[in-house]
Amino acid sequence: MEEPIISTRSGEPEARIALCKCKEAKGNIYGVRFQRADGGWKYTWAFEMKESSAKREGYDNTQIMGNIYPDDNYPGCPYCGTRYFVVCGNCQHLNCNINTGETFTCDWCGNTGTLGGFGGDGIASGGDRG
Ligand SMILES: [Zn+2]
Ligand SMILES: [Zn+2]
Repeated sequence: MEEPIISTRSGEPEARIALCKCKEAKGNIYGVRFQRADGGWKYTWAFEMKESSAKREGYDNTQIMGNIYPDDNYPGCPYCGTRYFVVCGNCQHLNCNINTGETFTCDWCGNTGTLGGFGGDGIASGGDRG
């Protein structure tokens, strides 16, 4: 399935919108703008979004593979303010504001797992799938 690609003008870095669920969001979600960068993806912006409109735009199909790290100007989650995510190893969706210490439950698919760390390249990503 085609993933939505936001930037179409030549010369601009490839960018995608991925979705994140936050425990503080009370049923809402938010979009995170990722931009292709050296060695992976840099996330540059976050904005509140309704899940229904995200589905309509096809953003729920976006999967980010590889290393991710915040841009210096990344504003953080619009609900809880964190600059980091956990990427579910099962469905490749983003979660934030995971309260438990070492295990997490994915709000998208219900997968549970052990956290690898919040430090950017320590985050579980889907790069090894298959
Ligand atoms: Zn959050
Ligand atoms: Zn999941």
